[in-house]
Formats: sequence, structure tokens, C-alpha cells
Amino acid sequence: MIVCKFGGSSVADASQIKKVKAILDADARRSVVIVSAPGKRSKEDEKITDLLYKCNEMVQKGESCKGIFSAIQERYLSIADELKIEKKMLSAQLEEIRQLIDAGRGADYAASRGEYLSAFLISQYLDFEFVDTADCVIINSDGTVNPFSYDKIRMIHDNSKKKGFVFPGFYGASEDGIIKTFTRGGSDITGSVVARAVNAELYENWTDVSGFLSADPRIVEDARTIDRISYAEVRELSDYGASVFHEEAIAPVVKYGIPINIRNTNRPDDAGTLITADVEQKKLAGVSARGGLSRIKIRKLMLFKKSGMRHALLTMLHIFGIRPSYSLFGIDSIVWFYDSRMASEGILDAMCERLKSEFELDEVSVDHGHAILGIVGSSVLEDGSYIKAAKALEQSSVPVSFLNFGASDVSYSFGIRDEDKSRAVSVVYDALFR
Ligand code: ASP
Repeated sequence: MIVCKFGGSSVADASQIKKVKAILDADARRSVVIVSAPGKRSKEDEKITDLLYKCNEMVQKGESCKGIFSAIQERYLSIADELKIEKKMLSAQLEEIRQLIDAGRGADYAASRGEYLSAFLISQYLDFEFVDTADCVIINSDGTVNPFSYDKIRMIHDNSKKKGFVFPGFYGASEDGIIKTFTRGGSDITGSVVARAVNAELYENWTDVSGFLSADPRIVEDARTIDRISYAEVRELSDYGASVFHEEAIAPVVKYGIPINIRNTNRPDDAGTLITADVEQKKLAGVSARGGLSRIKIRKLMLFKKSGMRHALLTMLHIFGIRPSYSLFGIDSIVWFYDSRMASEGILDAMCERLKSEFELDEVSVDHGHAILGIVGSSVLEDGSYIKAAKALEQSSVPVSFLNFGASDVSYSFGIRDEDKSRAVSVVYDALFR
């Protein structure tokens, strides 16, 4: 059995949904489907999920969401029209949802309805069973998937006589039954969870590109498609800012070795990218850069003499809402990089004060405008490519603040300035991939 997840662009309108049906009809093993909410039909268009968040914001401000919601209503009804689906039930559901959003059900409920309605509508079109993920995907308070979810999904699946199933992506419910969403793009996670629960032979993730590219095509126009890549490499590439597949969506399938195939709904004959536990041939996969980072530098003579110091310092950062994503350690120093959106200047000042006084630090400073350039591939530790990459950066005058080599088996990274991100990706791509 193949589990297929279709992203927002694949279900953006009726003509896209017809493509979905053609893809499913082409292989009888494609019997389990996960859908996103309708995405953009053109560059200027709005995603249904964004509109739903806006509806909730209106309600928070004390106004009715009626105005914005009518655009949502129209979109679903016109899809139903074109697919020749009976609209009575859909209209009633739309009205009930509008009332509940207006009654203040909150952001997670509002956002989840995009996927709910999408799955409801598509299940009718395909004559598949609609399975509400609020009844079977349990999301823990830290955003992880509760393992009971797998049994629940399997039971629903095994006890149905329908020829196929449609699950809405992106949301589930907390243990006490309240609707809860994953982070943005989270339908990829739902796809992985369902694939694992039903023990799929393959998880196909249908989107609007023919797989992972070795660099962002807005920077490297002719970046090549990666045909095979490992789970570990995908996680690293996503962490360095490549955005085809949600970085948390790998976890549910890794232990079970279910392969993931990234495919293009608009070009169904393209093979796409196959993600598996291992790759047959060691090689470079891609280069990507993640910006928007700030840096905390800490110095203290004999910093590590006292055991538990690093842990205590990190705990203090957490108290101020900062969770660093990269760290470097020296004999008397620590450098942490974190997403700049995590703390305002006021919070940072208070944190530095507190760190300095509580730990008697010699120096603590924070500065902004950093980025990390990551080079990912199964061959990175052996191919000496870091020398070529460093040379390319030097020749094009991209200052480097650190090199992190050896912490991962499948990547190394350079600290660079945010403003140099695109140039760095471009020159490193030229040096390593051409
Ligand atoms: N519709 C949600 C979003 O736009 C989730 C998803 O598409 O995966 O983030």
C-alpha cells in the first residue's frame, strides 16, 4: 500500500484535484490519502490556512470574521461546483465553522478547518472514507506525536470496507480532545504518521516541484534535482533552510525504514527524490543557508572547571525564551546561535545582566545578522570538499565566523553574515557541484 500526501498547491482548485484523482487512479496501491488545505493558485493568491489565521485574529480583536470567511466559503463552494459535488452538507459545515470561529474557538481550531474541509470535499469526490484526524492523531503538549495514535489509525483503517481513505493533514487533538495543529507545513508529519501506522510500503509526498534540489532555485537557477538522499541528509538540509519537506516529518518513519518519494503533481512522470535510510553511493547532496540568527558569546576564565556549568547557562537561556540551534565551545568560551525572533532587545539586556551577575562572567555579548551555510552529503567527511568550499568563500570575500566540521557524519557548516547568504550558496555551489 502507498500513502500519498498532497500539499496545498496540489489541491488549490478543482483542476488540481482532478490531477490528484488521475494520480490515484494510475496505481491501485495508492489507497490512503492525506491532504493539505487549498494553497495559492497564483503568486498573488492567499492560502486558505493564512485566511483562517486572519479570521481568528479578527475575532481576537473583537470583530466578526464574516468578511474574510466569505472568501474561504466561496473557494470551497466553487471547487465543489466544478467537481460536481453536492453542496448542501458542505455549506452547512462552512456556516457552523464560521460560527465557532466567531465564538472564539481559537487559532488551532480555525487553522485546522482548512484541512478538515479539504479532506471532507476530496473524500466525496474520490468516494473514499473521510477520517477525521482529531479522532486518531494525538499531539502531546510539546508538539510530538503520542504513540497511541498509531494504534488508533491502524484500527480505523483495518476495520473499514471502503476502497480508500482521506485524512486531513496538519492537525490532531490533545490528550483531552482539544483540536491542536502541528507547526506550519505539518501535513507532511501527518503523512509520515499515517504511513507508519498502516505500515505503508512507500510514502509519496506530492508537491509542486520534482523533488529536492541541490540548492535554492532562486539562487542557483539550474540547480540539479537530487534523485536519492538519506533521512539524515534531508533533516540536515531542511535545518539549513531548504523547505520542501517538514524537518520533523522524518522521525515517524525512520525506525521502520519506509521510503519517502517527493513527487510533482504537475509532472507525475518525473521520478522525484527518493528518501531512504541509506544511499547507495556516497556523494554531495546539496547546499543551503539559513539566516535570521543571532549570536551569544560568553567568556569566563576556567569556564568549564565547574561541572554542570554549561547546563546551568543553557537553563538560564531557556528561562528567557532562547533555545539555541548551534553551539561552539572553547576552553574559556561558549558561542550559541539562535533564531533572532526568540527575544527582543529588552529581554536580551535583562538576560545578559542576569547571566553576568549570576555566573560572574568576564564577558557576555549578543549580536545579530548571522547565517549558517550548510553543505550536506554522505561523502562530506571524506571528500575534502570543505577546503574547496572555504576557498570559494574566501575568493569571493565572504567572511567566515566559524567552521563546524565533524559534528555530523553528513554535513559541515560555515558561520557567515546574513547579507552574504545568497552569494555564499552560489559560489559554493559553483565550486562543489559543477
Ligand atoms: N495548511 C498548513 C500550512 O499552510 C499545513 C500544511 O499545508 O502542511 O502550513
